[in-house]
Amino acid sequence: MDAKSLAKLRSTIRDVPDFPSPGILFKDITPVLADPALLDLAINGMIEFLAGARVDKVVGIDARGFIFGALIAQKLGAGFIPVRKKGKLPFETRGIDYTLEYGTNSVEMHVDAILPGERVVLADDLLATGGTAAAAQHLIREARGELLGSLFFIELGFLDGRNKLGDTGPVHSLITF
Ligand code: AMP
Repeated sequence: MDAKSLAKLRSTIRDVPDFPSPGILFKDITPVLADPALLDLAINGMIEFLAGARVDKVVGIDARGFIFGALIAQKLGAGFIPVRKKGKLPFETRGIDYTLEYGTNSVEMHVDAILPGERVVLADDLLATGGTAAAAQHLIREARGELLGSLFFIELGFLDGRNKLGDTGPVHSLITF
């Protein structure tokens, strides 16, 4: 993607201080979602990282990952798989608990969402500490999907979430703060 488009995307992300709790600088992507040309740029920019690889399934993480993941899946002609917070998926699930800065969280995926050997990409809006993405990657591994890479619109580089993802395949983000 050209530098001008990247700069436009970057400047459209809105900083909201102290949301959802004091000390957090929330990166609000809704102004990007509201602009069809910018949203298209963002999705195409994320897809470029895949360099034309064939993808069977795109896994998106609850909730903003659903937006990016579903749009990426549709452009790739791939299926979309939601990873949801515990108790939200109707069918039989596999789940994992993971640690947050304070407390724990659980995410789940349907047992039949990914077939063994399917080529899978993970997508979310933002990589912070990496705990959520690592949990989703664990579910993909459990389903014996082949993880081609993990795509993020935004990465908070200072939180070093990449390290938590370890050697689980390429990690790409379009915009780093
Ligand atoms: P983490 O597990 O720490 O990588 O957190 C990632 C998830 O939390 C992502 O799905 C984001 O939607 C959300 N998130 C964490 N920090 C922020 C932030 N500063 N601004 C916006 N969303 C955030």
